[in-house]
Amino acid sequence: MTRGFYIGRFQPYHNGHHTVIEHIADEVDELVLGIGSADVSHTVRNPFTAGERIMMLTKAVREFEREHDLVTYVVPIEDIDRNAVWAGHVESMCPDFDVVYSNNPLVIRLFEEDEIEVRQSQMFDRERLEGTDIRESMIDDDPWRDRVPDPVVDVVEEINGIQRLRTIAQDDVVDRWEADEDNEP
Ligand code: NAP
Repeated sequence: MTRGFYIGRFQPYHNGHHTVIEHIADEVDELVLGIGSADVSHTVRNPFTAGERIMMLTKAVREFEREHDLVTYVVPIEDIDRNAVWAGHVESMCPDFDVVYSNNPLVIRLFEEDEIEVRQSQMFDRERLEGTDIRESMIDDDPWRDRVPDPVVDVVEEINGIQRLRTIAQDDVVDRWEADEDNEP
C-alpha cells in the first residue's frame, strides 16, 4: 500500500491540479492533499479560507475516489516561520505518507533533507491553468468557469467568492499587483 502527499495553496483548485492528481492516482492507493498556507485568506493572492478550499478539493476529487478506487484525506497546513522544521510540521498534521509529489524547489528540498522520496509533479496546460490568471479573470469578469472542476464553481458561488475577490482587489491594490510575483507564503 502506497500513500502519497501533494500540497498546494489551491487558490482556487483548478483543472491543472486536477490533472496532476489524476496522474498521481495511478501510482498510489491513498493520497493526502495538503492545503498549504491554510492560515491565510481574504487577500487577492489567497482569497479562499482553508474550509472553503477543503470543500473545493473534497467535492472535486470524489470522481477519482470512484474511478481509481483512491482514498483521499484533505489536511489544512498552516505556514510556519522556520523552513528547517516545516517538513516535520507537515508530517505531524497528516496521516503517514511514503512519497511526496511536488515541483516546488523549496518543498522538494525540505522533504529530501528529511529523507522522504519526492517525485516531480507535472502541470498541464499551464498557459491557461494558472491560479493567478484565474483570480484575475474572476475579478475582471472574464471567463474562468471552464478552467476549474464543476464542484469548484459551485463552492465559489455558494460563498459569494467573486464578490469577495472584487472587494478585496479594490481595497488591496498593492496585494493584487505585487504579491503574485513572488513565491512567498
Ligand atoms: P504554491 O505557492 O501554491 O504555488 C507556487 C506556484 O507553483 C504557483 O504559481 C502554482 O500555480 C505553481 N504550481 C503549483 N503546483 C504546480 C505544479 N504541479 N506544476 C507547476 N506549477 C505548480 O506552492 P505549492 O508548491 O503549490 O504549495 C506549497 C505550500 O507549502 C504553500 O502553501 C507554501 O506556503 C507552503 N510552504 C510553507 C513553508 C513554511 O511555512 N515554512 C515552507 C515551504 C512550503 P497555481 O497558482 O496555479 O496553483
